[in-house]
Amino acid sequence: MADIITPERGRISVCVKGGKSPVSKLGGISQLFTYGNYEIYEKNSMYWMRGGSIICPFYEISNEIERLALGTYLCEVANDLTGENEESREILRLLLNTLYLVGKGEKSRIQLKAVFEIRAMCISGYCPELSGCIYCKKNRCEFMYLDILRGRLICSDCLSKRENKTISISDEFEYTEQKNLLFGMTPAVFAAFCHVVYSQQGKIFAFEIKDKTELEDFGKIAETYLLEHLGHGFKSLDFYRSVK
Ligand SMILES: [Zn+2]
Repeated sequence: MADIITPERGRISVCVKGGKSPVSKLGGISQLFTYGNYEIYEKNSMYWMRGGSIICPFYEISNEIERLALGTYLCEVANDLTGENEESREILRLLLNTLYLVGKGEKSRIQLKAVFEIRAMCISGYCPELSGCIYCKKNRCEFMYLDILRGRLICSDCLSKRENKTISISDEFEYTEQKNLLFGMTPAVFAAFCHVVYSQQGKIFAFEIKDKTELEDFGKIAETYLLEHLGHGFKSLDFYRSVK
């Protein structure tokens, strides 16, 4: 069986007769990380692959274990976010763009993974509200804290006022804090996050976080945001962490 993500019909599980055989004509087209045109027919309530042609094979991804692990994770997330007969054009485009850049190997993998995670969440209806602090509305501060579960911001000034009990913050916010799911973002990390959420699809990767610690923080926030909203982990993510 192979899972194919299609633009109009979402994820389709397809039987590939002899797909693993080296002499099968379906061997190439049914490989992982293959973008192609597929010829599929239905028989006994199952989909079968008859043939197809490769548009882009993303060969470079399989050349190195860390790339392979990251590519597998991206595919697993895309698979998880795509249902049968659901329009999946946007998530497919995001996946293809990210896989292309992972294969090219020029951009930081932390950045590629984080952009994919944030944008995949936006496409799936979990877009955070980043226009400003939910209390004072300002959007510049030493640190902006992202409330991961509710997808909203609180600035460091309002957070310290809360600690001094000069403003009251609702119980639901306290609950989030107890779970340690308030992540502080420096101006560079916050700007990157906003860029990914609000840019057009073609521009989402066009930024750079130069400081290594800030880049790692950006990656950690993006990953936590995705995992908390989906409510489960991914085997391929564990594998990626183990080879990184
Ligand atoms: Zn504030």
